[in-house]
Amino acid sequence: MINFNVPPFTGKEMEYVMQAVQNQKICGDGSFTKQCSEWLEEKTGTKKCLLTTSCTHALEMSALLAGIQPGDEVIMPSYTFVSTADAFVLRGAKVVFVDIRPDTMNIDENLIEAAVTDRTKAIAPVHYAGVACEMDKIMEIARKHKLFVIEDAAQGMLATYKGRPLGAIGDFGCYSFHETKNFSMGEGGALLIQDEQYIEDAEIFREKGTDRSKYYRGQVDKYRWMSYGSSYLPSDMNAAYLWAQLELAEEITKARLDRWQQYHEGLKPLQERGLLELPFVPKECVHNGHMYYAKAKNLEERTALIDYLKENGVLSVFHYVPLHSAPAGLKFGRFHGEDKYTTTESERLFRLPMYYTLKEEEAAYCIEKVKEFYRV
Ligand SMILES: *Cc1c(COP(=O)(O)O)cnc(C)c1O
Repeated sequence: MINFNVPPFTGKEMEYVMQAVQNQKICGDGSFTKQCSEWLEEKTGTKKCLLTTSCTHALEMSALLAGIQPGDEVIMPSYTFVSTADAFVLRGAKVVFVDIRPDTMNIDENLIEAAVTDRTKAIAPVHYAGVACEMDKIMEIARKHKLFVIEDAAQGMLATYKGRPLGAIGDFGCYSFHETKNFSMGEGGALLIQDEQYIEDAEIFREKGTDRSKYYRGQVDKYRWMSYGSSYLPSDMNAAYLWAQLELAEEITKARLDRWQQYHEGLKPLQERGLLELPFVPKECVHNGHMYYAKAKNLEERTALIDYLKENGVLSVFHYVPLHSAPAGLKFGRFHGEDKYTTTESERLFRLPMYYTLKEEEAAYCIEKVKEFYRV
């Protein structure tokens, strides 16, 4: 059986977790957390990176930093994970969904401006499969209408748009280190902050509304309750696990890109015959091999294909059910404009096994089985 995902593991994780335990500092903001966040700041060129307990929580912190209030609107794609919407709905905002581009499955940048109202506060682009949204256009709209841009870059670590790291283009960028992502700490994430003016508030929100971060740095002699906040900092044991992977980040990315390329070339004959639609990567984008997806003709064919692969020992899965048609989406959101692609494209899409340790011969077997299904 070829699993759909195997959590990344490079071999040094246990040693580093033990070290964190021996350091007798297993709570948040220990030495591994520091190492990871400095590494991320350097890699992405951002002013500040704060490790968080999840990408969901990094998004929640972004919503707090952007000062989202009840009645505000946030524009995002409907084809995304629930957390993109949850973070803003928790603050009382309404989510405004716009359609995606069928080629990248990302928010259609040309539909955003028409969805802006005087209540719009932010745009939350999601870089699906580690392929960037059209960020120049999105930033231009945001500047014109004075909106925050909060990048859901959960899948986008170490991918770039015109040479700029995803997550480091908008005001705030959110990464995920869930076990299904390229780099993991079990559950975890990171918040990237571009503008220094938000750093202090971010540290306070992350530390239960206190200035404990300043206290640890010796900048104040006692810490106090400064604001509302929550506990968004992960244990240093989790950061230790992540550190083992950041050390091998290039190797991990390369392994995934190799498998991605293998799928892409192996399945090309099916695209040429009009049987499958393969992913498209715009020339401005360098992706990170986060996911290999393809699109079947329709829902029925996709279901049959997933079943066929399963019978043959390959776990392939579909992805998001659009948020706007889900119960909470109906309650907290609205779809602006026509749903031309979100629903139909999401029903056709399936994902093939993809993880750091996926072997070449395993990917070859998956390709063979897809071809067999289409009798090619
Ligand atoms: C994985 C993912 C999230 C959530 O990440 P967590 O770390 O599990 O909170 C949010 N958005 C997208 C697009 C994701 O893929």
